[in-house]
Amino acid sequence: MDGFRFRCYPTEDQAQILRQWIGCQRFIYNAKVGEDRYFRRFAASALALTGTPIPIDQTYAQFKTDLTPFLADVPAVVLRNGAVRWKQAYQRFFKGLGGRPTIKTRHGRQSVWLTRELFAFEPIEAAPGHYRLLIGCGKFPVGKLAFTAHRAFEPPASLHISLDAGRWHVSFSNETATETPSETAIAERLQRLPIDQLQAATVGLDRGVATPVMTSDGQRLVASPAQQQRLAQKERRRKRWQRKLARRRQGGQNHAKARAQVARTYRYASDVRRDLAHKATRVLVDDPRYQVYALEALRVQSMTRRATPKPDPERPGHYLPNNAKAKSGLNRSILASGWGQFKTILHYKAARAGKLVVEVPPAYSSQECARCGHIHPDNRPSQARFVCQACAHHAHADHNAAQVIAARGARLVADGQVVEKPKKRCALKRTTVGPGEAEPAGLIPQTPVENALRRGRGNTTAPRSTKQEPRATSQRL
Ligand SMILES: [Zn+2]
Repeated sequence: MDGFRFRCYPTEDQAQILRQWIGCQRFIYNAKVGEDRYFRRFAASALALTGTPIPIDQTYAQFKTDLTPFLADVPAVVLRNGAVRWKQAYQRFFKGLGGRPTIKTRHGRQSVWLTRELFAFEPIEAAPGHYRLLIGCGKFPVGKLAFTAHRAFEPPASLHISLDAGRWHVSFSNETATETPSETAIAERLQRLPIDQLQAATVGLDRGVATPVMTSDGQRLVASPAQQQRLAQKERRRKRWQRKLARRRQGGQNHAKARAQVARTYRYASDVRRDLAHKATRVLVDDPRYQVYALEALRVQSMTRRATPKPDPERPGHYLPNNAKAKSGLNRSILASGWGQFKTILHYKAARAGKLVVEVPPAYSSQECARCGHIHPDNRPSQARFVCQACAHHAHADHNAAQVIAARGARLVADGQVVEKPKKRCALKRTTVGPGEAEPAGLIPQTPVENALRRGRGNTTAPRSTKQEPRATSQRL
């Protein structure tokens, strides 16, 4: 499957119509969420008496009333797709791929999902392989939507038009399956290589805060000087707008304007991150010397947690300094360097090229000597320098760490310990439950209301959350 995301440029009139479509689709989606919550909160036991399951369907006509005349101003397909999106989200939940659908807010990225009835890619005769994108239908014409296709594509069956921080995009995916060899097949092929060849074909990648990515042969993958300069400029700009935002009345026009400005500065940072991730991974995957990419299995979530408060033993109720401010600064730069995104992109590009990405245990990689393997905190006299206390090997600290990671990666492949990870963690797996079927009794409650309901019914053997062990004894609220 191949995904495309192109920038598009609606005119002011078109943008207004599209915003209306987005709003109405979201309205239907949220109405379905609300309806479902109502059923599960108030009608579940009554329905159970009659043996009727809680409906998970895509009907939406009940929401078109005298109170919602605005729904008549958009194509019915837009509304139906809102209900379909909700149903699809529910199916994802049933497969354990996500939470129950929740209310979509008016803030942040917004999108409308259009199916074939509402758009057409018309081939341009003068330019083969190029298309004109027409939006709308007879009763609701929008016209030709200008977009820039930066690579060749096949017209899809459906597409999303999205608005994020003032920018419009059209995105879709093609179902044409690209043949990629499985990860285990690649791992088995590489395992048969002699160890020295395998080591030469493995590149270690150390992801740091100052240098986003450092390779084991000393390449530094960083944002361009112009980008770095602009990032610093945007950071100053964001601070200024955030101060303004704090002073303005919530819900007012000027508050909304300041909010849009802040969003724009964040958008630039995320653009740079994505740009860097795409370019760096392309350089790495295209390099014929590399077959294996070793990364540290870093847990971004635990690293970005807030600093734990340290209680003062002498004065109860008071706390000792815990460098919370420094830690939140570090958190920001960790998130800013976009590790997760880098990893995801590297994974799929490597897989297409028949190459392998392995994640190695991260313990002491910054204190281990790449030459002799001596591990000691004294090996790091400063943030940037590495000097081995045993063999006097010295190097840039990130470079040394990348070499340690490369060695660990090669060992992992040689030992055949590259196991394919499950795609997504989930609390429970269900095999064949489709829409319209009742939920099984063992399903873990998700919302506070559901939790309260379950406990209220005396179903105390059900765990309260996915993080807790099931309790043996009963305990009432
Ligand atoms: Zn050493």
